[in-house]
Amino acid sequence: MRYLILSDIHANLEALDAVAERAAGTYDRIICLGDVVGYGADPNAAVQWTQANAHVTIRGNHDKAGAGLEDLEWFNEAARQSALWTQTVLDEENLAWLRNLPKGPANVNGFQIFHGSPVDEDEYLLQLGEIRQLSGCLLNTISFFGHTHVQGGFFMTRGSVRRLPGVPKRQEMAELRLDDDGFYLINPGSVGQPRDLDPRAAFAIYDSDERLVTFHRVRYKVVLAQRKIEAAGLPQILSSRLAVGR
Ligand code: ZN
Repeated sequence: MRYLILSDIHANLEALDAVAERAAGTYDRIICLGDVVGYGADPNAAVQWTQANAHVTIRGNHDKAGAGLEDLEWFNEAARQSALWTQTVLDEENLAWLRNLPKGPANVNGFQIFHGSPVDEDEYLLQLGEIRQLSGCLLNTISFFGHTHVQGGFFMTRGSVRRLPGVPKRQEMAELRLDDDGFYLINPGSVGQPRDLDPRAAFAIYDSDERLVTFHRVRYKVVLAQRKIEAAGLPQILSSRLAVGR
């Protein structure tokens, strides 16, 4: 089975369209790791697309915020403003879908998915030490996570952990063939708001029969997404960061 793994779409329809076009015909099922909304200007379209196309979706912190389930006290000012705006523009049905999204981790055929970490959906997995502490919590040799908006992930074997890179700047894809001896935590990167200094939309394909993960990056109409964010009156930073990928 070939899975298209998407995370952190963040209501960026231009990025989502580019990913869907690039990935067309290369997967059997779509798995979404959360943060369908927040930051971007197209929450309704992002929800409808995900609802119609994804086989499994778990919630992210911005889905909780957009659905009114999160205390916004912990959000920075731009995130808080975008969450409040998202709540006002979401259609009733889309709001209900967001509100009912399951919390991770979720088990899909032989692998696990979570938004942040397997123990806390809101935790950021960024440091090698944080991965070491998860050694007893990983149920499968491969898991997928999002939340950090950094493509790549980690490989842990016999207590040692190393980082896995995403797609290099001048390439469009990078393959990772899975070793039998260890645990993989894979981050497909963010579709709609990359933060790894590469502004291109990110995604991954996992072929479970071939034991192969392929990371991808694709250019999209950044300027159009930015104009929509500005037209919605959302904070300037949410528009400008898309151009630099941070
Ligand atoms: Zn996110």
